[in-house]
Amino acid sequence: MKNCPYCKINVGGNLKKCPFCQSRLVGEDDEKYFPTQLKLKFQSLFYKMQLFFVWILIISALGVDFMFHLPLGPYKGFHWSLLVLMWLLAFEYSIIHIFKKGMDASRILSITVVIVAIMVCITAYYFGFLRFVLQWVMPIVVMCTIIANFILSLVDKSGNAMVYLLTDLLIGIVPYLVCFALKKNCPIEWMICLLVSFVIFVGAIIF
Ligand SMILES: [Zn+2]
Repeated sequence: MKNCPYCKINVGGNLKKCPFCQSRLVGEDDEKYFPTQLKLKFQSLFYKMQLFFVWILIISALGVDFMFHLPLGPYKGFHWSLLVLMWLLAFEYSIIHIFKKGMDASRILSITVVIVAIMVCITAYYFGFLRFVLQWVMPIVVMCTIIANFILSLVDKSGNAMVYLLTDLLIGIVPYLVCFALKKNCPIEWMICLLVSFVIFVGAIIF
């Protein structure tokens, strides 16, 4: 048993310092009370390393872009490093917020898809192939999300199936509503997305 010469208390375990006054304890170590959390330590090391790496990337991208004016992309004076910044910040955001405990897979999936979709559109806009992305890449991505959500709703036994299915329906409808709001004809690829989300929804309800 160790003791604190100032607070006149006995302290069990193998603490080095008094929990009250932080003075050095005297006496013999006991068996330690608390198990060492190796896993947590490793996770935080991994987290720090990726954070450090991300900051190196951000700083060097901004440096190369604004100091050396290295052109990248179709436009002169286009600061591509801002795109790099956007992607990396989103990456950090997702590590901090999305992979928290208690978030269900459907929400992680949907939020990730929405964020990535917006960023892909911005990136594509700067490099001049937004049309291609909107017409071909996005419908495929959305379709995959819908199918993944559907599979999750089948696998999940904790009563969240309805959440997945409603998310599916929402993902299918939103692009159509956007087209409608812009008074444009909805491209056929998006119509297929909408229909698939409806079919899956109805199918899942019936079975
Ligand atoms: Zn003390």
